[in-house]
Amino acid sequence: MTTASMNTSGEGISITRDMYEQVMTPNYAPMAILPERGQGCRLWDTDGKEYLDFAGGIAVSVLGHAHPELIKALTDQANKFWHLSNFLTNKPAIQLAKTLCESTFAERVFLANSGAEVNEAALKLARRYAIDKHGKNKIEILAFDNAFHGRTWFTVCVGGQPKYSDGFGPKPGGISHRPFNDATAVKKYFTEQGDKVCAVIVEPVQGEGGVTPATAEFVQTIRECCDTHNALMIFDEIQTGVGRSGKLYTYEKLAVTPDILTTAKALGGGFPISAMLTTEEIASSLVVGTHGSTFGGNPMACAVACKVLELINTPEMLSGVETKSHQMIDGLKAINQKHNVFDDIRGVGLLLGCEMNAHYKDRAREVLSACTENGLLVLVAGANVVRLAPPLNISESEINQGLALMDNAIQHL
Ligand code: PLP
Repeated sequence: MTTASMNTSGEGISITRDMYEQVMTPNYAPMAILPERGQGCRLWDTDGKEYLDFAGGIAVSVLGHAHPELIKALTDQANKFWHLSNFLTNKPAIQLAKTLCESTFAERVFLANSGAEVNEAALKLARRYAIDKHGKNKIEILAFDNAFHGRTWFTVCVGGQPKYSDGFGPKPGGISHRPFNDATAVKKYFTEQGDKVCAVIVEPVQGEGGVTPATAEFVQTIRECCDTHNALMIFDEIQTGVGRSGKLYTYEKLAVTPDILTTAKALGGGFPISAMLTTEEIASSLVVGTHGSTFGGNPMACAVACKVLELINTPEMLSGVETKSHQMIDGLKAINQKHNVFDDIRGVGLLLGCEMNAHYKDRAREVLSACTENGLLVLVAGANVVRLAPPLNISESEINQGLALMDNAIQHL
């Protein structure tokens, strides 16, 4: 464990990584290093050691660290005003909502601060809309095993991982789970529940659940069932959105249009912001007072998000994601041919998962530790999948360098 210290405030207080366990709640297990600064796809810790960042702050740092144009957007707004709350609106918030509407299916946008908050808003809206339109019994929500939708009480119960929702007392009702990518199970659920269903929520790629892409057949079946039964289709694009799949949003790849889409993580390039996108008709159920957030639509967050979208939503950036995805997959396959550690390499764009094979079962965390030791930051998705989510503006040579570090790390496993 590093004992490096740093003087954060110039007041003589020396902060070390060891202090973390003494002052923080124990619900995370961060790596033993303490980052000091970042630039592009690189980070340096308090010992001066350099790391290539294939983790991207869990699919957030979409333009890397300390991007000059994002710093400018942030500081320009910071010099005007930081916060107003919702009794006033602000130009960056209106600009951001306008850009999201112009670039997607959406006609109305609700702004918040984190992924869980916009999923919470989406689920509440789906219930409210269904009750408004079709009566008080239309409240059933379908979600999928292994799904992850956030940590508020409603979203964590809608998520399909009991390890996150068990042990907190009674759960809200009207929530069912079925196997992911099982179109037959979706049809059967709708046959059983009929017109009581208000919404289906699905990730186009299950991120936390193991980087598992949804099949086109699966999401198209959900769309058809929702249409037949007047239910809403909610796409949770919190991990897959903002260019990560090679499209601005992944629904564009799957030939379906959701009724509600949630986006967060990469939207602020590292500044906390999230958005729920929907149609004018559905949004009409969110009348004044039905929902809200003190910080949602924060002008600094919105100014940064506008710049992120401007830089990401270009043909060059999005086609670059596809090219880099192929480069990464080819490199990972070559590593696997040498060391035979993975069973499967999958994902979309620059959200990739490498599933450990039977011989290395559940040892993804060891790969992560070995990579960190070698100067490469990666992620896991559960015990058996190594997850990669680098900045989308990573260069070809940085990808090659990162793959070489991974090769070396796995060699020493
Ligand atoms: N939904 C998905 C698909 C996610 O990947 C996450 C976070 O990992 C969330 C929701 C929750 O987002 P947040 O942690 O910002 O609340």
